[in-house]
Amino acid sequence: MTAPPTGQASRTMSGKSIVASQFERAANLINLEQYMRHVLMHPFREVQVEVPVRMDDGRIEVFTGYRIQHNGARGPCKGGIRYHPEADHDEVLGLAAIMTWKTALMDIPFGGAKGGVTVDPKKLSKLELERLTRRFTQRISIVLGPYRDIPAPDVNTNAQVMAWILDEYSSRHGYTPAAVTGKPISLGGSLGREEATGRGVMYVMTEYARDFGIPLRGGRVVIQGFGNVGGHLARLLQAEAGAKVVAVSDVSGGVANEHGLDVPALLAHTAAGKRVSEWPHGQPITNQQLWTVPCDWLVPAALGGVITKETNAHTVDCRVVVEGANEPTTPTADRILEERGIAVIPDFLANAGGVTVSYYEWAQNLQQYRWTHQQVNDELKATITKAYVGVRDLAKQKAVTFRTAAYAIALQRVAEAERLRGN
Ligand code: NAD
Repeated sequence: MTAPPTGQASRTMSGKSIVASQFERAANLINLEQYMRHVLMHPFREVQVEVPVRMDDGRIEVFTGYRIQHNGARGPCKGGIRYHPEADHDEVLGLAAIMTWKTALMDIPFGGAKGGVTVDPKKLSKLELERLTRRFTQRISIVLGPYRDIPAPDVNTNAQVMAWILDEYSSRHGYTPAAVTGKPISLGGSLGREEATGRGVMYVMTEYARDFGIPLRGGRVVIQGFGNVGGHLARLLQAEAGAKVVAVSDVSGGVANEHGLDVPALLAHTAAGKRVSEWPHGQPITNQQLWTVPCDWLVPAALGGVITKETNAHTVDCRVVVEGANEPTTPTADRILEERGIAVIPDFLANAGGVTVSYYEWAQNLQQYRWTHQQVNDELKATITKAYVGVRDLAKQKAVTFRTAAYAIALQRVAEAERLRGN
């Protein structure tokens, strides 16, 4: 059977339904009250806006944008903004909910939100992208703020986009660096933020390797996605954990080398604007072939819905799936992996490094005090390791998967905050 192109599966099961089925398992485990399930399954507030943008040729094009605040019981809502042609209401809602569980699991004082604009940013000029960002910020700024809802980068948005959001927000409210995270360092961004998600994934893998005897030093790693998460993770795994990155891919395809890829050279190659598939020092592979490369650790770090029953769940050849991306595994695929004895480290544990360092950035902005890069890394390691240990112990105690244990801890914390607030 020919596998459909990567990403197609994400349209067969929406982010919303992925989250719903996984939620139920954990809610049953902790005997969550029915009314609380309703409160925690549904968003606190949803905003949909139409965003007219003057294009370079003088036309006005209208884009649809979303900001969904899933839950703010534990603190201001927090979550990225993505620009993607397939970003829609259901996807943004599912991702907003994940942010609630992620911030609760890390025990940082935030709730969860997500934003998105349905747009292919590669088709926009830089000026069009800036105008789109400013107009989108204007339309949603009424629900934003350092104690209300704090955006950050996500797929196809970066520090420059955050700088425009900061400028737009500050033009109405006065200089407010804590209104957005993932900013450039010179505008109040935090040292270590850019690599934080990849670094957090590495810390979790290090703990897991030690606990379950899966080799990381010398272990074989395959990564889908060579952007912020995948690129930094590949670099850090090779440089700091001594792992062998045997295959990576980006949207154009991938490259494999059983002896290990030269990650810094490959990063320099992609930084020069070239594609991973054009890298000459390995065997070119498609994104479908990537899933068949034998490895110890398989890290999806691109888009959601890429490990499915219909495509690769029966055939991936790894010992652990580490979810660098959000929602890369459908619930059916999750069960298949479980039956096959392949462990899954869930997204909102594995990739929580970004939001954790966003919290440090926000705290630094509010304190008007800068931390060193080392301090950021040390705090990140302590926070994510503590969360990992909590999940590992509960999973063992209740004989459940890491995902169910992680959900149970997060749900318990958010439910407690809701009850204390009188809900
Ligand atoms: P990015 O835009 O920097 O990189 C995405 C990478 O995936 C690129 O290399 C791109 O070419 C590749 N890609 C896109 N479509 C693909 C396809 N169909 N097949 C193979 N590769 C494809 O994005 P990012 O910030 O690295 O985010 C990646 C994932 O991690 C997303 O799911 C995001 O929600 C999640 N995430 C990111 C952060 C963060 O701090 N950046 C934090 C938590 C979770």
